Amino acid sequence: MALAQIETVERNDAGIATAIGILRQRYGERFQTGHSIREQHAHTTSYIPAQIPDGVLFATSVEDVQDCVRVCAEQRVPVIPFGTGTSLEGHVNAPGGGISIDLSQMNRVLAVNAEDLDCTVEAGITRQELNHYLRDTGLFFPIDPGANASLGGMASTRASGTNAVRYGTMRENVLSLSAVMADGRLVRTAQRAKKTSAGYDLTRLLIGSEGTLGIITSLTVKLYGIPQAISGGVCPFPSVDAACQAVILTIQSGIPVARIEFVNTLGMKSLNSYSKLDYPEGPCLFLEFHGSDAGVKEQAELFGEIADEFGGGPFQWTTVAEERTKLWQARHDAYWAGMALRPGAKGLSTDVCVPISRLAECITETEADIAEMGLIAPIVGHVGDGNFHVLVLMDMDDPQEVEKAETFVGRLNMRAISMDGTCTGEHGIGQGKMPFLEYELGPGVDYMRAIKQALDPLGIMNPGKIIGRARN
Ligand SMILES: Cc1cc2nc3c(=O)[nH]c(=O)nc-3n(C[C@H](O)[C@H](O)[C@H](O)COP(=O)(O)OP(=O)(O)OC[C@H]3O[C@@H](n4cnc5c(N)ncnc54)[C@H](O)[C@@H]3O)c2cc1C
Repeated sequence: MALAQIETVERNDAGIATAIGILRQRYGERFQTGHSIREQHAHTTSYIPAQIPDGVLFATSVEDVQDCVRVCAEQRVPVIPFGTGTSLEGHVNAPGGGISIDLSQMNRVLAVNAEDLDCTVEAGITRQELNHYLRDTGLFFPIDPGANASLGGMASTRASGTNAVRYGTMRENVLSLSAVMADGRLVRTAQRAKKTSAGYDLTRLLIGSEGTLGIITSLTVKLYGIPQAISGGVCPFPSVDAACQAVILTIQSGIPVARIEFVNTLGMKSLNSYSKLDYPEGPCLFLEFHGSDAGVKEQAELFGEIADEFGGGPFQWTTVAEERTKLWQARHDAYWAGMALRPGAKGLSTDVCVPISRLAECITETEADIAEMGLIAPIVGHVGDGNFHVLVLMDMDDPQEVEKAETFVGRLNMRAISMDGTCTGEHGIGQGKMPFLEYELGPGVDYMRAIKQALDPLGIMNPGKIIGRARN
């Protein structure tokens, strides 16, 4: 599995030295080679070891990105786009060295088209920066991964979050992209129209491509009206199965739930202790409903009846903003709460996703596996989409424990794939999940290699990620 099998990429020391010389001369202070800056631009969020780039360009314009890509193409040097570095599978690592292009200074809002419910932004803007900018317009951008990620990074990993059950993922919410391709040319993948049948869908080809096909410089994304009223609350259940059955019936009943998040018993214990709360310490669902005053009341009451049918409840809900904020802050802090269960340990956050009808079975089998293997691993999940995270806490100095975690994650990914699901619902493949892509998509991966070869014949765009080399 992933921990031991990171794809190797050959270093081109001479090319790297020449590229560094050129970029240093052209960009002065905006091109950095100091160790700590480079270290911050390698993978930092999980158990995957860091592989540090040789230099970091802080791009401020499309022209900077084009120029850097052209220099690197000429010298056959890898370029690794960088948003905020919150990805979890070694995505921003530089296995063959190379230049990290940091887009965080390209964070302007270029246009808000309120009447069309869309806006165009530079790729380095974070989701919170965008929503802060939009605060007086009555509109918001809903996609909310647990970290304050950049929109370019979110598009590149096809990210989503707690709101996806209602508003979709980055795949459904990006109308158009501009990207610098491997030859340095800038392409715009679509116009701003809500629908298009104009040829191959380059927008969706780049979404989820993790910087391996092009560098996104701007995006046009959908916006939504801030709901008139919001209600939300936490509901305990007697078992994982009961909680999952309630999720299925809620979705099947057409209740337009905005968020429906599962937290298992250990997860609830970690939230209570980390956020000083006193929620029930058993399997729980966190819910939110958007609509009119009457609508959110009705939706909450309907859900309460469904919960009751499966032995859950009481469903205590509220429309009071501060109470809802506290509840969702606790849910968003679940990763850090989980990490706090075992100080000093490294976290391995999985993100399998299965058809919702298989969810109860998948989580129940996974919990049994965790118990049998004696792992410390809380579970939280965006269960309205069939997606859940297990945070495996490992002592990296204990090889037996690392091996156990490897075995567990391998079994979990294969379990999801065997249930017609995926090894990654939202985090992406990066380096960590590469071994599972072939199992999931078989010959589909050969066609991905063909696309990569056609669009990046020199192999300079974030090499060693997603597909790697063909194995016979
Ligand atoms: C605590 C925590 C909670 C999280 N919760 C969620 C969650 O709920 N849902 C979810 O989907 N993810 C989640 N994540 C993962 C992470 O936030 C997402 O993968 C996010 O989309 C990464 O965005 P970023 O800006 O940090 O990208 P980075 O980490 O900087 O980059 C990610 C990948 O995209 C590429 N890239 C970055 N910018 C560009 C660009 N402009 N053009 C082309 N390629 C680019 C990089 O090369 C890399 O391959 C979580 C992470 C943490 C630490």
